[in-house]
Amino acid sequence: MEREACTTLSQISEDALRLALAKLRARFRGKSKAWLKRCAKRLKDVQRVDVDSWAVKGRPELGDRYPSYLVRVIDGRYRCSCHSPYRPYAAKRRRSVCSHVGSVVLYRLVKRLGGLGDA
Ligand SMILES: [Zn+2]
Repeated sequence: MEREACTTLSQISEDALRLALAKLRARFRGKSKAWLKRCAKRLKDVQRVDVDSWAVKGRPELGDRYPSYLVRVIDGRYRCSCHSPYRPYAAKRRRSVCSHVGSVVLYRLVKRLGGLGDA
């Protein structure tokens, strides 16, 4: 946890980021370029909070209504707090992978590719 908190985007190489984006695209075929861009934008907003949970800062310019979102892996699947039924548009969002989840997947790919390991 400590080590992860110290990791900044500048420690991530361009190559690792490019490769991670290619993998993200391959994993979520059918997603638009705009979606991939949003995930990349969110990358620096991702913070690991636990073994299987990450906080993603909300950005109004990306359509977020809340200051932060919690992405968790439950039963091997990514879940995001924007999927909560108590939140507006949740039903629509649940049908597709949100860019919060996308950014967490990207974050983990980058960490792994960048040799930072503990993603
Ligand atoms: Zn979300």
